[in-house]
Amino acid sequence: MPYYEYQCQDCRRRVRLFMTYAEYGRAEPTCPHCHSAALKRRIGRVALGKSEDARMDSMLDDSALANLDENDPKALGHFMRKMSREMGEDLGDEFSEVVDRLESGESPESIEKAMPDLGMGDEGGMDF
Ligand SMILES: [Zn+2]
Repeated sequence: MPYYEYQCQDCRRRVRLFMTYAEYGRAEPTCPHCHSAALKRRIGRVALGKSEDARMDSMLDDSALANLDENDPKALGHFMRKMSREMGEDLGDEFSEVVDRLESGESPESIEKAMPDLGMGDEGGMDF
C-alpha cells in the first residue's frame, strides 16, 4: 500500500499515513499524535525511486531476456535495440552501429575487432 508523508503544523512531527490512492482523494488526514487536521503534504522522493525500480524489474522480467541466446548475434542485437527503446535513451552512434551489425548476423568478436574503441571485451562496458 502506498503511503503519504505529511508534516504536522501543530506538533511539528513528521507523519506517515498509509492509504490507497482513492482514500487519499477522499480522506481528510489527521495527525495520529495530536489529532490536528493541519497536515502539510510532503513530496517524497521515495515514491519516484520506487516507480523507477518497478520499471527496471518489468524490463528484467521480460521473457526476451530469459530466452536470449548469447550466441545468436541477431537475437542479441534485437534485444539491445529493444532495451534502448524501453529506456527511452539514445545510446549514441556507436551503440546503433553495434546493434545494426549484430542484427545483420555479425558476431560480437568480429564487431569488437572492427571497432576497437568499444571496450566490449572482458573489461566490461557491455556486460550481459
Ligand atoms: Zn500533530
